[in-house]
Amino acid sequence: MSPPSLIATPPNLAGAAPVALSYELFPPRSPAAAESLWTTIGELEATDPDYVSVTYGASGSNRNTAVELINRLVQETTLRPLAHLTCVGNSPQELAEIIGELLDVGVRGILALRGDQPRDGGTPPEGSLRYAQDLIELIRRVEQRRSALLCAGKVAVGVAAYPTRHPESPSEAHDVEVLLAKQRSGADFAITQVFFHTEQYAALLTRARRAGVTIPIIPGVMPLTSVRRLTRLGELTGVEPAPEIMERLAAADTDAERTRIGVSATVDLANAALAAGAPGLHLYTFNEHAAALEVLDKLALPRPRSGNRHSRHERLAGRRQLAG
Ligand code: FAD
Repeated sequence: MSPPSLIATPPNLAGAAPVALSYELFPPRSPAAAESLWTTIGELEATDPDYVSVTYGASGSNRNTAVELINRLVQETTLRPLAHLTCVGNSPQELAEIIGELLDVGVRGILALRGDQPRDGGTPPEGSLRYAQDLIELIRRVEQRRSALLCAGKVAVGVAAYPTRHPESPSEAHDVEVLLAKQRSGADFAITQVFFHTEQYAALLTRARRAGVTIPIIPGVMPLTSVRRLTRLGELTGVEPAPEIMERLAAADTDAERTRIGVSATVDLANAALAAGAPGLHLYTFNEHAAALEVLDKLALPRPRSGNRHSRHERLAGRRQLAG
């Protein structure tokens, strides 16, 4: 008998993949912020995301709170953490130790980043890693040394991608070359910087695919509900918020009206990114759930059935009962 051919595969196996869903959180800076973050985590957990990412201060400024939050996510929730890690200002030895610490607490996804250069214009210490690409290679080396421990699941390494030119880069074409280099060094997927025009995301996909980038490029989308936050983010990232949304938000008479405008604009942006070929959505939550959940509600994403995760919920509830 001849082996079954791929052509004979039932057509439903080749159907469209479900859309991936993830959120970004940052480690809390005070006990009050921690309390409100855990309310947000509970609300987000109920939506069964594929993972939640936890940011990391450049030079490891919040290393302890980041690892503590990740540890609690692993121990106390059903969520899978994706740990951001920056390399600027750290030596390979320091970073190898942090990577080991993350793997020890159960992390299996790391977003490998350079981090922003010191604001005082100073140069990073001698011997510290220079680019995200160097960090990917280091993660893969640490992973290789622990390969026997990781038999049941290797580390997924993500990287940053830029729909608009990175502020230090000479061109968008150079950004794509860098993304390709990160893929060659072992990146499995990319999450984008914020963007305000879908054409920018679609153009990045086209440039990247033409250059040979094959990894998923997941759009990072922020709820467009706050003028203050959009302005601040523009300053931090160098991505100018779209004037139209800024004007419409500023002209709103009430908070409810502002939220309605912002959520609707975010849903349009996300839907257009999905129509352009986005394989998932990564929502920048700023540790608040309300706007993110409203966006999600209106998007009605095709998501996988979560039977497995429900049984994880039940197991966890049992563990909590035993502990309490
Ligand atoms: P790189 O890929 O190293 O690129 C940095 C610059 O160097 C770019 O201009 C690039 O063109 C250039 N470059 C890279 N490699 C080469 C090469 N081989 N030769 C020549 N030039 C090169 N920051 C934080 O501090 N903490 C976070 O948690 C965090 N999370 C983020 C999450 C996402 C999804 C994104 C998009 C950004 C995040 N950032 C975070 C910001 C990020 O650290 C900055 O954008 C930083 O300036 C660049 O990081 P990178 O990983 O893209 O660096």
